[in-house]
Amino acid sequence: MSMPDAMPLPGVGEELKQAKEIEDAEKYSFMATVTKAAKKQIQFADDMQEFTKFPTKTGRRSLSRSISQSSTDSYSSAASYTDSSDDEVSPREKQQTNSKGSSNFCVKNIKQAEFGRREIEIAEQDMSALISLRKRAQGEKPLAGAKIVGCTHITAQTAVLIETLCALGAQCRWSACNIYSTQNEVAAALAEAGVAVFAWKGESEDDFWWCIDRCVNMDGWQANMILDDGGDLTHWVYKKYPNVFKKIRGIVEESVTGVHRLYQLSKAGKLCVPAMNVNDSVTKQKFDNLYCCRESILDGLKRTTDVMFGGKQVVVCGYGEVGKGCCAALKALGAIVYITEIDPICALQACMDGFRVVKLNEVIRQVDVVITCTGNKNVVTREHLDRMKNSCIVCNMGHSNTEIDVTSLRTPELTWERVRSQVDHVIWPDGKRVVLLAEGRLLNLSCSTVPTFVLSITATTQALALIELYNAPEGRYKQDVYLLPKKMDEYVASLHLPSFDAHLTELTDDQAKYLGLNKNGPFKPNYYRY
Ligand code: NAD
Repeated sequence: MSMPDAMPLPGVGEELKQAKEIEDAEKYSFMATVTKAAKKQIQFADDMQEFTKFPTKTGRRSLSRSISQSSTDSYSSAASYTDSSDDEVSPREKQQTNSKGSSNFCVKNIKQAEFGRREIEIAEQDMSALISLRKRAQGEKPLAGAKIVGCTHITAQTAVLIETLCALGAQCRWSACNIYSTQNEVAAALAEAGVAVFAWKGESEDDFWWCIDRCVNMDGWQANMILDDGGDLTHWVYKKYPNVFKKIRGIVEESVTGVHRLYQLSKAGKLCVPAMNVNDSVTKQKFDNLYCCRESILDGLKRTTDVMFGGKQVVVCGYGEVGKGCCAALKALGAIVYITEIDPICALQACMDGFRVVKLNEVIRQVDVVITCTGNKNVVTREHLDRMKNSCIVCNMGHSNTEIDVTSLRTPELTWERVRSQVDHVIWPDGKRVVLLAEGRLLNLSCSTVPTFVLSITATTQALALIELYNAPEGRYKQDVYLLPKKMDEYVASLHLPSFDAHLTELTDDQAKYLGLNKNGPFKPNYYRY
């Protein structure tokens, strides 16, 4: 694989950490001023209160976590590797060693390692940014000495991340952030490769915390970095091993939920180490919202309904990032697309993009498909559902299942017929049927997969955030929550450009001076809207 024509690796061997960027990062971190003067001591009891608000790991569905989970659930090949003969025995009861004699792991079945290795190799094909990061930073080992304790979905894509961190010099101990999402064969492959992984699909609640504990609580090994997805690991360390934070150089958090909790801790002055919010990095947001939905809306609809879009009338509620992605895909297939919006700016954008902006009531009788992407609630009401025509497909691409008033359909006069997995026909007394997908939950995450390339963006962002926090000189980052510095966001993008053989134009000295920019970036101010 050829080395990408990317920018030099920031933060490694280069004076990336310029004062300006830190200033920018601080400005952008909205809690910075709040916490500056705050006391940083861990107050265990209070922290517990913060964290007791956590929903259960099965119920909590941050976007990023759901993406991975959904992706994993739909790998039918992964399921076929499961050896049902040992399903009854808990991995905690088994004595397993890898081929090098190590038993420093707990997975479903170490014998599945070879299958898992193949899955990882397939994922690597579309995660070339991480592979090139491995090559570029291999000599320097920017994570040498890093002891990373991680809690993420354990899938082929995260395995590529974990093995990249190891290649960059880190020692890793890993558990799963979701009891269902682990690809057992991938966990086995990681264990075979020497990673201390404690995870299997179908863990109990007790297993879940046991696995996290095994990662954190190890004689002779103490973590100095945390990579979390959802905040459970961070919570556990706060709760059980607060002293570990004396050695921790930083937390990297991926999920909406986890980031929210970190900001709460920060606001309360209880965050005792720097934390990086990778959820809100520009590249991740764009890929998760716009580009991912542009691809997966069709995937989700076609897998569930086999619908043909040419000439179909579709109404999309909300013309934000997700709505724009959905509309672009539908338009490309020849659908007639209507938009509903509350915001005049987004409405005007929809007009400029050639869509009719309407009120839902105006088109509800004629449309073939209704898609919600507002992040709001009760956008599609029972009244709308009553007026839809026969066979109208209704689905949601927004975060929560509140956009369509599904509860209002659970009344005695309506009959529900499950026709396929994730597909219900709701039948009115006169025989009219509405096709409801995923019971109003996120369509793409419930019914399709997420491209590895999208996960590559996230994983690269996580790796760079770890490198940045681990190598940052004392005082650069305070006990606060930061966004990834803009230059690193740009670097994540630049690492993905070679996949497309894209050639960036370089600023001339004169042009750089004219625009007041450093030739190597950052190229945009933090307030820039991409
Ligand atoms: P956004 O804020 O950019 O867009 C939402 C749009 O909906 C806004 O323009 C808003 O004005 C509009 N809106 C709000 N209430 C409305 C109403 N009653 N009628 C019509 N329009 C209304 O947000 P986004 O990034 O597009 O995300 C939208 C939702 O999708 C969020 O819940 C987000 O968490 C979720 N999301 C889903 C995926 C996925 O993979 N399915 C990916 C990213 C985000």
